[in-house]
Amino acid sequence: MDNKSILLKNCRFIVTQDRDRKILEKTDILISDGKIKKIAKAIPEKSDKVIDCSYKMVMPGMINTHTHLPMTLFRGYMDALPFNDWLPMIMKMERDLTPEQVYFATLVGALECIRFGTTAVADFYYFPYERAKAIKEAGILGFLDSSVMDKPLFFKDADEAIDFSEKFIKDFIDDEDIRPVATAHSIYLSSRETLVKIRDIAHKYNILKRIHVSESEKEFRESLSKNKNTPIDYLDSLRWLDEKTILVHANWITNIEIRRLAEYGCKVCHNPTSNMKLAYGKVMPLDRMLEKNVTVSLATDGPTSNNNLDIFEELKVASLLNKFIEIKDISDQQIFDMSNINGAKTLGIEDKTGSIEQGKQADIVTIELTKPHHYPINKHNSLISHIIYCLNGNDVCDTIARGRILMENQEIKHLDEKMIIRKFQNLTGGEKIW
Ligand SMILES: [Zn+2]
Repeated sequence: MDNKSILLKNCRFIVTQDRDRKILEKTDILISDGKIKKIAKAIPEKSDKVIDCSYKMVMPGMINTHTHLPMTLFRGYMDALPFNDWLPMIMKMERDLTPEQVYFATLVGALECIRFGTTAVADFYYFPYERAKAIKEAGILGFLDSSVMDKPLFFKDADEAIDFSEKFIKDFIDDEDIRPVATAHSIYLSSRETLVKIRDIAHKYNILKRIHVSESEKEFRESLSKNKNTPIDYLDSLRWLDEKTILVHANWITNIEIRRLAEYGCKVCHNPTSNMKLAYGKVMPLDRMLEKNVTVSLATDGPTSNNNLDIFEELKVASLLNKFIEIKDISDQQIFDMSNINGAKTLGIEDKTGSIEQGKQADIVTIELTKPHHYPINKHNSLISHIIYCLNGNDVCDTIARGRILMENQEIKHLDEKMIIRKFQNLTGGEKIW
């Protein structure tokens, strides 16, 4: 898989996601040393590896800006519980997690990402060293943390959890594959002191910080009575809001708060499937966010509340939510942007990835346009519409991340997928199936 140069030959379509959102036809892409070296017609075939893309649509790798990969362990558990009943049950099970379970669960999640064309993932959880090892082996880019709350599951107290979180940040600050993030679980599980310490760590290392916020009505109302502020205003009072802040969910949010997020340049992760499954009563108001030019990216949330890691599905659900009651003024292009270029902006890597352009990292997926549900393709429809409404993760044919082929023709060669799934199944107490 480690070819120094790769030529994607005669790509039928290249959905570039560049500034002009150009779609190129019958064009080649030359990849060298992990980067996109050239995009042109008829590039000579001198590369170590040539992939014929005559029937393929080529697009940027998906970016999943919020998940909890180890929660693959609990996939299919408690599907019928609303958030406020679900979370305590989950946390009770998480107390018994072992490092080995987290490592294999992360590997399984990362394999799913590769199969569904995701090349960068922001993963929010505990056991960062085990997750980092798994993400490195998988070959995707990971934004990882050791999430902090006041009554930590694996530490004596919040201070010990914060020290561990900072140690991980220090250890990975210059890593190529893993970007550390300062994370507080939420305002309802983190005190004012904890939130301030996490903010200060983020500033000290000049890294991203993130938090689940304004998820449920309960959180919103409790914040009003306890903090005398909405969740967003409360974070603002703690000087938590800036362009390096990632707010996950933001479902219960007022127009004034949205304006504030826009002013600060905060980024918002939209998790539409998970939000509906956990019965939050509201999802993030995408139309109002876009109207104020807030950067919104797409995310699956964890595999226990989704229950998969397919960003193609999130595109469709996000779009449908804005058509369910009335057709909102949101274009297919704006929806699609959330899965790549906006994801890159959210993670502060838009100069490196999120689009197919010369000089950027080669984070690329291909779709072979040979299936019944891909057709027709003509002047009455658009490829972007097909990506949102017709495709799903299983359509991905090749996944290339930073110039490494992680999946070719739906085959993953650098990891023993069968062994990993068997081991994972065994660690969950399940019988051998495959
Ligand atoms: Zn989450």
